[in-house]
Amino acid sequence: MLFSGRKYKSITSPQTELYGQPLQFYGQPPLENISLLEFETFAVDRLKLLKTIENLGVSYVKLSDDYKKKLHKESKTLNFPYRLEADERKPLTGLSEREKRRKDHISHFILRLAYCQTEDLRRWFIQQEVDLFRYRFNELMGKQKLEFLHRNNLQYDTSSAEEKKTLKDYLINSSYAVSGITVEEQDFYKVPFQDALDLVRTRKVYLKGGYAYIPHQDIVTIVLNDFRTRISKALALTARSLPAVHSDERLQPLLNHLSHAYVGQDYSIQKNVGKISLEQIDSLSVKSFPLCMRQLHQAVRENHHLRHGGRMQYGLFLKGIGLSLEQALQFWRSEFIRGKVDADKFDKAYAYGIRHMFGKEGKRADYTPYSCMKVILSNLPSQGDHHGCPFRHSDPELLKQKLQFYKVSPSGVNQILELVKGMHYQLACQKYFELTHHSEEASFSLNHPNQYFIESQKVLGRGKDIKREVGTPQNNSANKGSTAAQEPAANTPQDLAEMTEDLDSFFQDA
Ligand code: SF4
Repeated sequence: MLFSGRKYKSITSPQTELYGQPLQFYGQPPLENISLLEFETFAVDRLKLLKTIENLGVSYVKLSDDYKKKLHKESKTLNFPYRLEADERKPLTGLSEREKRRKDHISHFILRLAYCQTEDLRRWFIQQEVDLFRYRFNELMGKQKLEFLHRNNLQYDTSSAEEKKTLKDYLINSSYAVSGITVEEQDFYKVPFQDALDLVRTRKVYLKGGYAYIPHQDIVTIVLNDFRTRISKALALTARSLPAVHSDERLQPLLNHLSHAYVGQDYSIQKNVGKISLEQIDSLSVKSFPLCMRQLHQAVRENHHLRHGGRMQYGLFLKGIGLSLEQALQFWRSEFIRGKVDADKFDKAYAYGIRHMFGKEGKRADYTPYSCMKVILSNLPSQGDHHGCPFRHSDPELLKQKLQFYKVSPSGVNQILELVKGMHYQLACQKYFELTHHSEEASFSLNHPNQYFIESQKVLGRGKDIKREVGTPQNNSANKGSTAAQEPAANTPQDLAEMTEDLDSFFQDA
């Protein structure tokens, strides 16, 4: 794939014949020039589609009517293929079917680049791509399925109506979920038996003349296994070429951003500044904080200290829910000086970092609270750390105890642990939300700790918990004598240089 700074003009690539097909195995990479704008838009849209697939896969039976309806709708909204024929005519709005297939092709390859980097990313990407492929393969007509198989060197034929009639009893007796009623309308594929060893081994298919007679629902399994293997190998190969890709300074930040991507609201814009008082934080942490932030809050209250990773994750979250810089300084200062840090050391070593978070120091960037993806995938917590996502980083037994302690019902705990086992961490968190807010089904798809907070506040009284504190002084004892909010910190130049470097490196992909 080549990238140009100019906007893409027309589809003239020899690969366009690829887009005459409704489905592909993504065997050939795109070779045309695309603009960086298109690169980013395509990738973000595919990411949205894959996130939808992940959510639907947990909320609905895969390929049930509701599942298909919702996936169809999302594909349409995001301009991905959802029709069987490649309609050449340009629709009045949006892309033609052929353009959608092009977008599908290119976006798949872009996400390969972003998601080949770690084992976790690869696993997630393969799972969602396989589910998307399953849905699309099932939407094809019988003839299109055969064409697809032949085009991809899976030379399977269907058995004729006459043959099915002759073998009817054998087919019924040997094939799971095939009855006398369904055998005639069911397609049976004749597959060389060595290609279907799993099915032969488990005696699920009829064997004759070196061929396994595989009913439609089982051929999908074979095709999906093949697809999974191809993508898995392709990701391993892509990972090897990463150093070359990373040397392109235009692409590296984009790819990093995509692999930690969060495709929702930007919580860096502070909407509720001053609407939360420090006294409210304890109760809010119980009622409306996601588990990751509740854990951090508890740790700071108990230990009167948090390490760097925890301060960043929790500090930016608090900023996102509406704490002003002055309140943040006061909050951290009052806690830290109750521990081993005296007021002077706090002003020298920690106040700078807090002002930095609010864009008042260093490069003066207004830092964004971390999304779930960022919390889950970057800066893994080690011994003594409290940051990270408990659904991803806690030992399952410890998570279980924590959930029981927070009075989640035994069946709820099991549901959450099942989701965690399937690596659906955000969905596990969403389930925790539903259980602790007594809501049947959360009306949002969780991507961000600050989104959790806002949704919780909506459920608990449409934000009434956050009361405007007009002119209320932050008059707890910790505030008295605090100079952190009014006076510049007395950092030495060397302290500052070290801390800036520390923060900058930490934030470089924020
Ligand atoms: S899923 Fe997101 S909000 Fe929930 S605990 Fe993990 S990081 Fe926090």
